[in-house]
Amino acid sequence: MNQEQFVTAKGEILVVDDSPANLSLLTQMLSAKGYKVRVAPNGKLALKSVQYYPPNLILLDVLMPILDGYEVCKLLKTNKQTQDIPIIFLSALDEAIDKVKAFNLGAADYISKPFENVEVLARIENQLTIQRQKKWLENEIDRRKKIEENLKQSQQLLTSVLNSSLDGIMAFNSIRDNRGNIVDFECLLLNPVAAETIGKTQKNAIGKSFLKQFPSLKKTSLLEYYKSIVNTGIIISKEFYYEHEYVKGWFQLVAVKIGDGVSVTFRDITDRKQMELALQQSNLILEKKANADSLTHLANRRRFDEYLQQEWGRMTEEKQPLSLILCDVDYFKFYNDTYGHQTGDECLQKVAQSLRRSVRYPGDLVARYGGEEFAIILPNTVAKDAVKVAEKIQCELYKLKIDHRTSSVSQYVTLSMGVASVVPRSELSPAHSIAAADEALYEAKKQGRDRIVLNRAMGNGQ
Ligand code: GH3
Ligand code: MG
Ligand code: MG
Repeated sequence: MNQEQFVTAKGEILVVDDSPANLSLLTQMLSAKGYKVRVAPNGKLALKSVQYYPPNLILLDVLMPILDGYEVCKLLKTNKQTQDIPIIFLSALDEAIDKVKAFNLGAADYISKPFENVEVLARIENQLTIQRQKKWLENEIDRRKKIEENLKQSQQLLTSVLNSSLDGIMAFNSIRDNRGNIVDFECLLLNPVAAETIGKTQKNAIGKSFLKQFPSLKKTSLLEYYKSIVNTGIIISKEFYYEHEYVKGWFQLVAVKIGDGVSVTFRDITDRKQMELALQQSNLILEKKANADSLTHLANRRRFDEYLQQEWGRMTEEKQPLSLILCDVDYFKFYNDTYGHQTGDECLQKVAQSLRRSVRYPGDLVARYGGEEFAIILPNTVAKDAVKVAEKIQCELYKLKIDHRTSSVSQYVTLSMGVASVVPRSELSPAHSIAAADEALYEAKKQGRDRIVLNRAMGNGQ
């Protein structure tokens, strides 16, 4: 029953009186006003009737034979089932002492006989209203107790979830200045993992300022992230590095807007991050290895092909010249035959050094092309400058004075070099450039070795 039904239902009244005239008068009057009326001519029957079906109110005469009204009232008020039914005494006894006795026994009201009909009706209505409101209040209290119990249970559930979570969980409320701008956050709650991570007890952290607790976070963008979550409602998920007192490491953080604040879940991912970094590093080493020649540590043929393709594309777009130098050690077979393969390897390492020393720009690439052949890619370089690089190589190699007594061209190790320079165009390919440099190298060998030949067939790159 809701509050409205309590207030509007007319109710059932039990009239107890030994005078039939009174009974019929009251029955008539109350029925006319819409009440359901039951009657009892004496106290005994009244008690039975109440036991059988409790009315909403009892009009009780005091002076009756055998059981008087006081006795009936006393019995009804001491019985749990009937004690809440309001009793109005209707009596010819008009002394204050009689009324006091009635009230002491638990009567709700007292009307003296002879009575005025309107007064009886008003007092009945008054008691019934009080009764209805009392019932409504009791129901309301019951309902709220149940809600409170549910709330308590969900709070317990939430607390156990928070406490057993392996992630750190914190909630913050915004602190705003008098212009309404967020200047800081107040910690509303944190679970044990969060407390341990930040090195505080839950008691010490709750209610405290975010910035005062983590001054180092002012320097990070975390505070700004939280502000933007509150202002925009957008969820943020990010990895960040945090260092404060004894806390140090990588954290995965998810922050969500709640009310005028944020709830933050975070997880220590330092181990995973370290593994990732180690993996990245080893990948880098692997990549280097995959691109390097193991004997000379220059770029290998694979890297040469890849880089030439890349720079060819770039130079095509920029309409800039790309030069290529192919070098081949002269009479290297004789060298191996004379000094042995091992010394041959060392010789190739020295040649590689002189090549490395001769290039200046980070975009230049020196590679071992195969066997005792080397190649240099020179982006943004015209033929004239490429020839200068070749001359520098020759000069660096001369400085090393590597003995080669079976060479027909010099007493030291020498190189023959072919140079080609071209502004790449769509109808050409890197293979054209290689072929041109190779042709020039062949020419250098043919002309007697230990020299540089420029292939002008592709233009001079200008
Ligand atoms: P040319 O002046 O015409 O270039 O004569 P060449 O003897 O240098 O040329 P040829 O192609 O006949 O011989 C190349 C030699 O280089 C043969 C091969 O054994 C040697 N060679 C190739 N790769 C290596 C290497 O990694 N280490 C050593 N020690 N020798 C190598
Ligand atoms: Mg060769
Ligand atoms: Mg050779």
